[in-house]
Amino acid sequence: MGRVFVTYLEGRKYSCKYCRTHLASADAVLSKGFQCQHGRAYLFDKVMNVTTGTKEERMMMTGIHTVVDLFCTGCGSLVGWKYETAPEKNLRYKVGRSILERMKLLGPNGNQYLADEENQQHIESDGEDEVLL
Ligand SMILES: [Zn+2]
Repeated sequence: MGRVFVTYLEGRKYSCKYCRTHLASADAVLSKGFQCQHGRAYLFDKVMNVTTGTKEERMMMTGIHTVVDLFCTGCGSLVGWKYETAPEKNLRYKVGRSILERMKLLGPNGNQYLADEENQQHIESDGEDEVLL
C-alpha cells in the first residue's frame, strides 16, 4: 500500500463526508440543479482526489450518457460521476465535467447536508435536473 496522494484546497471547498478529503473548490460549481438517486447533486467544472471507474452507458432523464463513476481517493466511497459523452449537442456542456452527490459531501462551511431537506420545492424551477432512471 503506497501513500495516497491528496491535493489540498485553499478557501471554500466541498469535501468527502466520510474522510474529509477535499473534492472540489466551491468556485468550480457550475450548477446546483441536478438530481440523482440520493437527492440533489452539483455539477462541477473540475473535481480532484477522485479515481474513476469503468465507462458505462447510463440512462438519464435527458437521454443516454456515457459516464464513469467517481470514487474518493481517501476512502473509496462512490461520490458521483463524470460525463464522457452526451446524447445531444445542447447537453455537451456536461462532457468532461463531474457530478458530486450532495449527500456525500461536506459543504464549504463544513456542514453536512441532510436527506431531502429543501429538495422538493426547488427542484422544478432549476430546469437542469438530471435523474437516473
Ligand atoms: Zn472519502
